[in-house]
Amino acid sequence: MNEPDAPTLLLVEDEEHIAQGLIFNLEQEGYRVVHAATGKKALEALAARDFSLLILDVMLPDANGFDICRSVREQDSRVPVLILTALGDENHRITGLRGGADDYLTKPFSLTEFLLRVKRMLERSHWYRPAPGSRNLYRFGPNVVDLKERRATTLCGEIELTDLEARILGVFFVREGEVLERSELLASVWKMSPEAETRTLDNFIARLRKYFETDPSHPEHFLTVRGKGYRFVAGK
Ligand code: CA
Repeated sequence: MNEPDAPTLLLVEDEEHIAQGLIFNLEQEGYRVVHAATGKKALEALAARDFSLLILDVMLPDANGFDICRSVREQDSRVPVLILTALGDENHRITGLRGGADDYLTKPFSLTEFLLRVKRMLERSHWYRPAPGSRNLYRFGPNVVDLKERRATTLCGEIELTDLEARILGVFFVREGEVLERSELLASVWKMSPEAETRTLDNFIARLRKYFETDPSHPEHFLTVRGKGYRFVAGK
């Protein structure tokens, strides 16, 4: 399963039995895993090479996962960071997200959920933060979207995408076919709370339909899911 170009993950976790369980399952999924049991070892590993994803436990014997996260962000803004926090600690969650974490999981978590988050974060990072020089062309219907250059070719011709448009498209592409709840879209793309003005989102979707749908009043790609949110369908 271990492909030569498999993503390499850094797991920073001091509890041996948790670490071993996660490593085993991540390797089963085809990832390579480097394990660091202390903050010091983590920083050494980070200095030595690049990683596709960082999984950081908060409570380490010699360091705090948030501090590691912050120092990582100062060096490299591209690597996605998943924080593992203790049960229900809301302050940790906020500190983690402020410190540049992309996602967090509260212990104890289900293995399935963990692996799903890892997979999504790796996919998303590919769209959010493409490697320098790479082109990520996404095709659906008559459209071709280049998220990196924030350009798209549509039936209306060549258009330039704003940063927010590129971000929301990135989320839709990665989660093609899934129902995305309004609150989730607002939180992940706009960093807004679910209570925030949600008309922003509707206006946005209307704009995407105008760009990308053959008939914006009968969308085939950006579908409304009543009472929930939206679903993107690439179609043919
Ligand atoms: Ca710990």
